[in-house]
Amino acid sequence: MAGLAAAITAARAGAKTTLFEERERVGQKILATGNGKCNLGNTAKEPWLKYNNPGFVRSILSEYGVNAAFWRSVGVKLFEADKRLYPHSLQASQVLNALRSAAESAGVETVTASGVSDKDIAPNGKEGYLVFSRPFKKLILASGSGAGIGCESYFAAMKFGHALMPVYPILGPLITDKSTLKGLKGVRLPAHVRAKADGKTVAEASGEVIFKDNGVSGTAVFDLSVFLGRLGYPAADLYFDFVPELTPEELKEELKEFPVESFVHKELARNILSMGNPEKLLKAYPVYRAKAGSMELAQAATGGLRTDEFSDMTLESKLSPGFFAAGEVLDVDGECGGFNLMWATASGQAAAKGALSGL
Ligand SMILES: Cc1cc2nc3c(=O)[nH]c(=O)nc-3n(C[C@H](O)[C@H](O)[C@H](O)COP(=O)(O)OP(=O)(O)OC[C@H]3O[C@@H](n4cnc5c(N)ncnc54)[C@H](O)[C@@H]3O)c2cc1C
Repeated sequence: MAGLAAAITAARAGAKTTLFEERERVGQKILATGNGKCNLGNTAKEPWLKYNNPGFVRSILSEYGVNAAFWRSVGVKLFEADKRLYPHSLQASQVLNALRSAAESAGVETVTASGVSDKDIAPNGKEGYLVFSRPFKKLILASGSGAGIGCESYFAAMKFGHALMPVYPILGPLITDKSTLKGLKGVRLPAHVRAKADGKTVAEASGEVIFKDNGVSGTAVFDLSVFLGRLGYPAADLYFDFVPELTPEELKEELKEFPVESFVHKELARNILSMGNPEKLLKAYPVYRAKAGSMELAQAATGGLRTDEFSDMTLESKLSPGFFAAGEVLDVDGECGGFNLMWATASGQAAAKGALSGL
């Protein structure tokens, strides 16, 4: 997404622009976003607070906002639901088609099935860089993360001497100990979940929980994974509150009237009864030793290229003039709600504008 936004912005300003893509077609990840509906932005006030790195993203997000002008310019009509922005068609394919045709009309040269590795990039004296022996005055790295696909996209960290913050999958399921998951595979219900490490609550979230045979998933778990990932996944146990609307005292009274099965799914009720102490377990059902899930099942990654080595206005490298980075390849991640695509689009435009200066 960031590469397409950058290429369209640069080419529209008159720069000869080439987009190298290792897959058969550009922007394929977009098709999977938002369950095929593409949640491409969010109208939250002070959106930077939803990122791991608010100080770094603030000025770019303040300038580009929700990218409404960009989306209008490529022919994507926006639709807002609960602050989340989608294409009005509710089809990610419409967004991708619009971006591809905007790139084509702007004159972007697209070179697909063409993965760029560090060996394919070389300095070209004071003239910029060579990519596959072709000269370019400026380079923008927008290779994303391996989330959802599992590829390695940080090669340029080494090439240009940039440091990499540790990368962890986020916005995905967690793998856990199986001892308290027995019989629960497929059970889904709302809950408030707390992650505790060394006896302290380190993260919490509310929403749907889905039990799996080797861990937990669902919107609450996805949100929780963002906070745990940003902490580098400390050794944490999870505690699920299935009756967050009731105080412990209220629950105690209600349990005199209603059986455990009337509060939760029967399989969960069975586990709770076999473990004893429903009063405690309905408010803090334990699932032990939560770890990061796979990169392939995650929607994003936390970590990436260290942001203090890039300008927070132009995204130009402070180590290699003429080299820029945009999107998720940087150590920038946002919470669920369209923040990651919003950063990709805004940062792509910012990097292109930065690269255009001095051309
Ligand atoms: C299933 C799923 C659902 C999601 N849903 C949402 C959502 O609804 N809203 C939201 O905000 N975010 C969502 N995200 C996250 C969002 O898609 C990403 O944060 C965003 O696409 C990142 O943009 P990017 O341009 O940095 O990277 P990408 O969009 O991943 O683009 C990077 C491109 O670089 C290419 N590439 C990588 N390495 C090389 C190389 N060496 N040479 C050439 N090309 C290379 C890749 O093939 C890819 O096309 C979702 C992610 C997934 C996996």
